[in-house]
Amino acid sequence: MRKNIVAGNWKMNKTLQEGVALATELKEVLKGQKPNCEVIIGTPFIHLASVAEVIKGSVIKLSAENCADKESGAYTGEVSAAMVKSTGAEYCILGHSERRGYYGETPEILKEKVDLALANGLKVIFCIGESLEEREANKQNAVVKAELEGSVFHLAPAEFANIIIAYEPIWAIGTGKTATSDQAEEIHAYIRSLIADKYGKQVAEDTSILYGGSCKASNAPELFAKPDIDGGLIGGASLKAPDFKGIIDAF
Ligand code: PEP
Repeated sequence: MRKNIVAGNWKMNKTLQEGVALATELKEVLKGQKPNCEVIIGTPFIHLASVAEVIKGSVIKLSAENCADKESGAYTGEVSAAMVKSTGAEYCILGHSERRGYYGETPEILKEKVDLALANGLKVIFCIGESLEEREANKQNAVVKAELEGSVFHLAPAEFANIIIAYEPIWAIGTGKTATSDQAEEIHAYIRSLIADKYGKQVAEDTSILYGGSCKASNAPELFAKPDIDGGLIGGASLKAPDFKGIIDAF
């Protein structure tokens, strides 16, 4: 049975002290609660080890927002999957449209990152989604198919079991524009059918597919009620503990 998941993506926000304070507050608001979903926070690299300490003994799990496409060595400024894992993080977000768009991460580079993250025992939250131009040209299905084929469909079924898909239409990220729940459900069902074609029905049924793009406490219940939407990847609304808690409570 697949998991429901609410995952935060802090992006490049919060100093170390602010991040520790936010993780501490989130731990407090979730104390004694049994959320009906897995709760993950994705933080910048520099926060990982400290936040891992803060969330010990809580329901919160930890993710990086990226990792290097190389194993180790002379790659100044890079952070490897092994380093991420050594902090206590269990997950790594890869393929975010901001990484693809601003940092030129191609499907080939992302394939390397996915392989290294999995080889180092991390689970991957793999982001896919179309631009506004592509949506207007009705190319969204072709875009998500190519993104899956380019970076994760080479995996063996046992490896693919450690992949969570996050469908994030680029036009909805940080814009306040959310895909309607019907629009999101339609493409989530399509993504699940692609996984079924590649890995079989059971693997497809077991894969969590999250929605991302201006998801907040007010629209999460309608989105999460859809059969193929298994939770959310949350940017802006993950930066305040009460807002993030409101989304967790949608389950
Ligand atoms: C994201 O960047 O993953 C995201 C979904 O951002 P926001 O929730 O701010 O739209």
